[in-house]
Amino acid sequence: MGQYQRGGSGGRQEEQAAPKPFAFVQLPSSVKRDRPTRHDRYQHNRTTGRIHGTIKALSPIYIGSGIIDIGDDVELIKTAVKTGGNIVIPGSSLKGAIRSVVEAISESCLSKVSTQVRRAMPRWFSECRQKENLCVACRMFGAMGFQGNISIQDAPRIEGDIVTKHVPELYAPGRGQRSMREVPGRKFYMHGEVATGSTPVEACEKETQFRFVMQVDNLKQSEWGLLFTALGHHPEHSFKLKIGGAKPVCFGSIDFQIDEIQVQQHTGSRYLNWDVPQDTSRTNEELETWMQTCVNDAETDKLIQQELLSQLAQILKYPNDRNCPTGLY
Ligand SMILES: [Zn+2]
Repeated sequence: MGQYQRGGSGGRQEEQAAPKPFAFVQLPSSVKRDRPTRHDRYQHNRTTGRIHGTIKALSPIYIGSGIIDIGDDVELIKTAVKTGGNIVIPGSSLKGAIRSVVEAISESCLSKVSTQVRRAMPRWFSECRQKENLCVACRMFGAMGFQGNISIQDAPRIEGDIVTKHVPELYAPGRGQRSMREVPGRKFYMHGEVATGSTPVEACEKETQFRFVMQVDNLKQSEWGLLFTALGHHPEHSFKLKIGGAKPVCFGSIDFQIDEIQVQQHTGSRYLNWDVPQDTSRTNEELETWMQTCVNDAETDKLIQQELLSQLAQILKYPNDRNCPTGLY
């Protein structure tokens, strides 16, 4: 509230712009590319497993379906993505959010960029195109002609209410018009106090919980460590991710709680031609210890760029008591 609210007589021109609800993580000094591992082929120094966890909404979540419906009060509501009547966070949205963090804290390419950014960025940052020579984000999450080693299912809502929230119509002047001289970095929206406005959306209330399952095939321990860090589980640089729509007005803050990892153990014998994988479950302390080992490996292997990680952790710190813009920013 306060100085950034639209005044009674003021139009858009007189309105004072609010501080930007986002900031940038610098680009790394180079992109490191390597040969990927086939996800379906067992390899010795790699671990295959399945992460089971809970996503908790730290602010309301809105993931638009693109469909507008008539609500109870005969107002037009932008509806949320659903499967079988229940709201889900699509696996593709989760994958996108986690990937963008992995990209930001490692020597990875810029995969999804506007034409404006593509024109301004140095050529070596271009999306990886040779499937035998991929950056770590492309190896983990996929690239053209390569499936990637991580797949994430849609995460259904298991607890919490569906509500109608009213969000502000936001506008940033001159967006997409100016040409860019230099790419400022990777953009992330900060957490903060949720702003309200007049556009109704179908959202999940704060505290809503979703169940997620992530299949991880043939990753090195250091790559698992990079993944855990991207989920906000680095012991010294923790942060929370954002998901879905209305991020500038502080929707979509989420916490990834990792409950259990089923690790596939190969009981392969040199004397037999077959290899029977068996799952062992890691939970609680054993899980924490293994995650810590993986994060340490990621640091030893220099898979994590410390400076970039601390920039990101600063932008995505939670809680954050800043106010979100209600209009011009
Ligand atoms: Zn790449």
